[in-house]
Amino acid sequence: MQVDGACLCGDVTWEATVDTQLIVVCHCNDCQTVGGSAFQFSARVDRNQFALTNGTLSAYIKTAESGQARAMSFCGRCATMLHTSNTDGTGPLSLRLGGCRQKHALTPQFQIWCQSALPWVQVEAGVSLPQQT
Ligand SMILES: [Zn+2]
Ligand SMILES: [Zn+2]
Repeated sequence: MQVDGACLCGDVTWEATVDTQLIVVCHCNDCQTVGGSAFQFSARVDRNQFALTNGTLSAYIKTAESGQARAMSFCGRCATMLHTSNTDGTGPLSLRLGGCRQKHALTPQFQIWCQSALPWVQVEAGVSLPQQT
């Protein structure tokens, strides 16, 4: 599915092709903290299926709870988190969907890091998985 979106201030815009079966809710502590919220809503996207259509991204390197270094890419002006990825240029992007224009058509299919989910959070999703990044 072809989707697009923008950061809060509008400086950064993007487009991507997402697999609607790879929509994930993550309840890990890092996602809760960086998002200032209870969980993160994202899509696993091949790097070559994502492109910025305007602006540039800043990055912060964080060692995730899994021990893996992750590049967290965000708008340097308004701090909207756009995606996270491996730091070595491999693997998919975890594309944050909060700023995606088509987000209402995307339903999470997996929940990860459920052991750190807040007790009052109930997400309608197909499958729950234990630890995974
Ligand atoms: Zn912005
Ligand atoms: Zn997470």
